[in-house]
Order: sequence, then structure tokens, then C-alpha cells
Amino acid sequence: MKITAAVTRSKGELSIEQVDLAPPKQSEVLVKILAAGVCHTDAAGIQGFIPWITYPQVFGHEGVGIVEEAGDAVDTLKPGDRVALTFPSCGHCGFCLDGAPYACDHLNELFFSGAYKDGTRRISLNGEAVGSFFAQGSFAAYAIVDARNAVKVTGVPDDRLKYLCSMGCGVQTGTGMVFNRCKPEPGTSLVVFGCGGVGMSAVMAAAISGCTEIIAVDIVPSRLKLALEVGATTTINAAETKDVVAKIQEITNGGAHYAVESSGIPGCSLQALLCLRRLGTAVVCSVTGPAEISIPIEMGLMNPSKKFVGLTEGGSNPQVFIPKLVEYFKAGRLPIDKLVKFYDFKDINRAFEDSHSGVAIKPILLFD
Ligand SMILES: [Zn+2]
Ligand SMILES: [Zn+2]
Repeated sequence: MKITAAVTRSKGELSIEQVDLAPPKQSEVLVKILAAGVCHTDAAGIQGFIPWITYPQVFGHEGVGIVEEAGDAVDTLKPGDRVALTFPSCGHCGFCLDGAPYACDHLNELFFSGAYKDGTRRISLNGEAVGSFFAQGSFAAYAIVDARNAVKVTGVPDDRLKYLCSMGCGVQTGTGMVFNRCKPEPGTSLVVFGCGGVGMSAVMAAAISGCTEIIAVDIVPSRLKLALEVGATTTINAAETKDVVAKIQEITNGGAHYAVESSGIPGCSLQALLCLRRLGTAVVCSVTGPAEISIPIEMGLMNPSKKFVGLTEGGSNPQVFIPKLVEYFKAGRLPIDKLVKFYDFKDINRAFEDSHSGVAIKPILLFD
């Protein structure tokens, strides 16, 4: 079928085109996209910062939509089902079978190469194969995804589905760092570095978890103000604070129990580790590229018995985790609707500009 899609033919470029989309294969569904979030990983892919990327490719990996057609082997979804699309995984490697699809052996190929599990592509343009980012490609009117990475959503009115886009990536990443890795006990302290969509989601998860000291660190005053509205108890403007680590240690009376780093700034990973008290846990999710930091192993990590953890996609098993997040959203406890700014699909380039400049925390593209 002919569909409209934003195609990146070469590094740094993106244009709306008519392309051909193949029908879904046995384990796949065809989804009419209602809305799609813009994530920094899309920008990193379009700009060529990710080694496995191929062009041409259709980006977008935070789609929400309606199933129009299901392959013969799909028994979990049917036409008419509302779905949040999420990251792909192979389903048969040891990590997937162990309930850790975020650590899938085939993660890099499936996320970035544009090919589906069987190595083929679903989109073509004038006969040339076009990749689908995250085996999804939701910057398009329709997307094909494996049923494994389409999570059925129930009980959310159609006019509110658009708020759920980043459940599939950003919100899942931020909340998952807290719920799945830190697992904070009530009454503990948690620091969030970076108040974008991921960091704000981590703040919300810390509040749900009963953390009593939730410190948000950023350099943009409007973001820090919003962090307070969604659950932070204290903010630190890192642009105005001489020693962020010392400030956190002062506020928490000796160091935080937990820290999550979502700013993507390598130095913040080190601050996340150093601001902890003994036995503390720092989780890092968002650096792009070959950044390195130097850790004082004995006094910074070993002697105080700290944990320094890397994590993708919030350590989430999406078919189990996303429905829980949807319930928190329905109950008003995960106010991700406060993070979004909507754009018509045709204004996709402006959405990326506003994401980059910080005008929008979570841009969402709307389709007809
Ligand atoms: Zn796997
Ligand atoms: Zn993402």
C-alpha cells in the first residue's frame, strides 16, 4: 500500500514522501499511526551518531495507533486493538527467554539497522528498500511491527491515546530505571540528573515509590519548575551551583540513596556515582557515542560498596511493564501529559528543532 512517511535518505536529512509498505508477515501487525513521539535517539540516528544505522530509513519508535491487520500467527492482537509500540527484541535468545528483552542479543541490529528479525525491510521507495527504525518506523501514517513490540492498551479514550507515545521508550526508560533497578524503599532519597522526558518520568516514578527526597538537577529553570510540579521535592540548577555533588550531600545529609542519570552528559554519570551515600545505586541510561569517565575505584565505588549500573529501555519487559504504566497514567499518578507538545506530522522538522533547543520536552507528532 502507498503511505506517507518521513524518509531520511542520507545523514541529517528528512523529507515527507509517498512510499510503498508491504503487508504484515505472519507474526506482524499493520498499525495505523495516530501519534508518534520524537526521541533523542531518533535525532542521534538521523544525524549519523549510531554505528549500525543504514539509509534510507524511516525513523520514529514511539508510535501509538490502531491495529488494522494481523498476520496469521498473531494471537494476541486483532484489528481494532489500540496499541503502544515499543522496542523490538528477537524473542528467542537467552536474554529474551529470561525475561530481559532489553538486553536482547540482537538489540543493535533490531534497533538501528532498519531491518526486521528476518533481515528484510518492509518499506520501499521507487523500488529501493527503506529501513524502519526499531523495526517500527512510526514517522509514517502506517507501520508494520512484530506483535512482540505492540502492547495492547485498554481503557484509555481515543482522544487521550496520543499522550501514551513515549510509554514505548522515554517514559519506560525513566520509570524503569527507578521501578526496575533502583527499587527505592519509601522514605529514601533519589536524585535525577537531566529533566527531559526520561528524567521527568524518573521523578514521577520516585514519587510513586514513596521517596521523600527527590532532587532534580538541570540547567533550565522552566524544566526545574515543571519537575517540582510532577514530584520533585528540591531542585538544583547546575549552571548556578558550584559543586553539585556537595550540594546533594548537604541536602541528603551525607549522600543520596539512589541517582539516575538521563542528561547524556558524561560528567553527570560520575556525579551520579559520587553523590551517593554508602550502599547507594546509580543508574545510567543515556550517553550517545564513545564517551568515557574516570572512576576512583577504591574510594568512589568499592570502599563505600556502591552500585554503578548501565541500563537500556528501563530494564523493561514491555508486555508486562507498559500496561502497569498505563494504569498509573489512568489514575493520574504518571502525569506525562504535562511533558508533551503537539505538532502536525508535516511540521516534523520543527518538532526536532524544538526538541534540540529545549522548547519542547516531548514533542509528539499527530497524524490525520
Ligand atoms: Zn533476544
Ligand atoms: Zn527512544
